[in-house]
Amino acid sequence: MPIKVLPPDLAAKIAAGEVVERPASVVKELVENSIDAGSSQITVEIKSGGVEQVKVVDDGQGIPTEEVAIAFQRHATSKIDSQEQLDAIATLGFRGEALPSIAAVSRTVITTRQPLDQGGFRLELLWGEPVSSGSQGCPTGTAVEVSDLFGNLPARRKFLRSSSAETSRIQELVSRYALVFPGIRFQLMVDGRVSFTSPGNGLPREAMLAVYGPQAATAMLEVHGEDSETGYQVDGFAGAPSLTRANRTYMTFFVNRRWVQSRMLSFAVEEAYMGLLQVKRYPLTALNISIPYDEVDVNSHPSKREVRFREESRVFSTVQRAVRAVLVADSPVPSMNAPAGAPPPDSDYPRAMAPSFFPRSAFGGARTGAGMPDYQGALPGGPADAAAPRQPAPPLKVVGQLKLTYIVAEGPAGMFLVDQHAAHERVLFDRISQKTSEQELQSQPLLEPVPVELSPAQGDTLQANRESLENYGFQFEPFGDGSYLLRAVPAIFGEGDPAKSLLDVLDMTAFEGLVRQKEDVTAASIACHGAIRAGKPLTQPEMVALLEQLEATPNPHTCPHGRPTMVHFSSNHMEREFGRR
Ligand code: ADP
Ligand code: MG
Repeated sequence: MPIKVLPPDLAAKIAAGEVVERPASVVKELVENSIDAGSSQITVEIKSGGVEQVKVVDDGQGIPTEEVAIAFQRHATSKIDSQEQLDAIATLGFRGEALPSIAAVSRTVITTRQPLDQGGFRLELLWGEPVSSGSQGCPTGTAVEVSDLFGNLPARRKFLRSSSAETSRIQELVSRYALVFPGIRFQLMVDGRVSFTSPGNGLPREAMLAVYGPQAATAMLEVHGEDSETGYQVDGFAGAPSLTRANRTYMTFFVNRRWVQSRMLSFAVEEAYMGLLQVKRYPLTALNISIPYDEVDVNSHPSKREVRFREESRVFSTVQRAVRAVLVADSPVPSMNAPAGAPPPDSDYPRAMAPSFFPRSAFGGARTGAGMPDYQGALPGGPADAAAPRQPAPPLKVVGQLKLTYIVAEGPAGMFLVDQHAAHERVLFDRISQKTSEQELQSQPLLEPVPVELSPAQGDTLQANRESLENYGFQFEPFGDGSYLLRAVPAIFGEGDPAKSLLDVLDMTAFEGLVRQKEDVTAASIACHGAIRAGKPLTQPEMVALLEQLEATPNPHTCPHGRPTMVHFSSNHMEREFGRR
């Protein structure tokens, strides 16, 4: 076929494909136009997942009558008119492509009126061509109605998911914008019924409540962070570590209030939650990063969902630190959730004033002070505990041991089940990590060196982590042919089989290494190997000491692998279960 320029209608369809991928993209573009128009109220109506109809009505500034037809020409925009403005975009739109693209693949009707005009104007287009226009009475603002989407592109229409899948994309989209524009009242109607409304009163927490519902909203912490050098700001919400989801879709990011997708930002948040969440669980966040317009390139993706930062690592650390700060300041004990549909979490244990079972200053320092011997194998009562000041009244009272695995304890707000292995792992992990920052972890020399044979994979792990293994108390030297001579092990391992402890730690390190930072990996593996196992009977004083030590750690609620150390059954929950209230 000879090369020739495509006829305009065909070119328009191709271009439209970039912008209008599915009904949700139509909603996105129209809502963004309404936001750019300074609206305080935006109503979105969809029918059959948006394929039959999408209608977006706003009360914004409207379009001058004589400009309505121009708005439907390609690259027609009122938002930028120079290269400088393209380099520092402050509006959500700027390419002037949305209206022509949408119109090219649907029947589009726009009615619009500016505040000072007497009446409004209406324009109807079919497959991109105007079919009628004229004046029409209407309220101030703009209404765009898009129907029969992809009616002239049967192939694309075939590829659309079910109408319920399209609907949920649109619900997600509208609610995300409601989060970051709390001053705008959003309403979404799905097939004639109200599906979502936001209050639009300017209060971020109330917008958040409308989006996540009362149950999740009580566990959302407010994030405000600023990098003093760059002036980058991070604001929004981050879920308490007890509130997790199985995938990343609940981590929402905005850059200058533009909804974006970014692996880098997800990593920053995951990094902030490091050690607080179970493996393969993800937090709920909604964060807006405010950054000078000229330090972010929003023009790098067809539907503007991805952006590029000039100072990527600064953005990363600003986000990571802001989120980490609120999590460290306030991480609640995972609570036994009330049954679905029940009222929000119990009033005797509200997030805002979660009882401080775990005072950070009380005796954490003294207990883990330098030079203090670690206990060996058997739990407490050792010199470490004798030396540390006792807390007068233990906040958690030990009731007993369950299945040789859990410690049953009573606290001011109900019952706690503590996993003895996870709890001890947390205690050892913190002790190990602190020790290496101050001095070397105590090493226990073996009476006779023990030869250990390693698989090639284990040998690689050993080489890759040699330094931290040695810092944490292992001593070994090559003994030829994949073998090593083990001369010392971390003192916390006590009398266990030294060869097995090295193999265990190597295997765990290899496994963990896929998901964590290097130093952490070795410490977590050593803690896990050294910690008391499920199935070990514990005496009352041992359990008391373990809980006290756990309370003294900065992150008592999860083990270093991110599993919970304890589960909380609130008094209110128990009373409800027994029909007492
Ligand atoms: P862009 O948003 O990139 O400028 P669009 O094709 O989405 O391009 O819109 C073209 C122009 O039409 C906008 O620049 C704006 O001036 C006008 N416009 C579109 N939607 C609205 C609206 N809801 N209210 C007021 N003006 C609008
Ligand atoms: Mg636009």
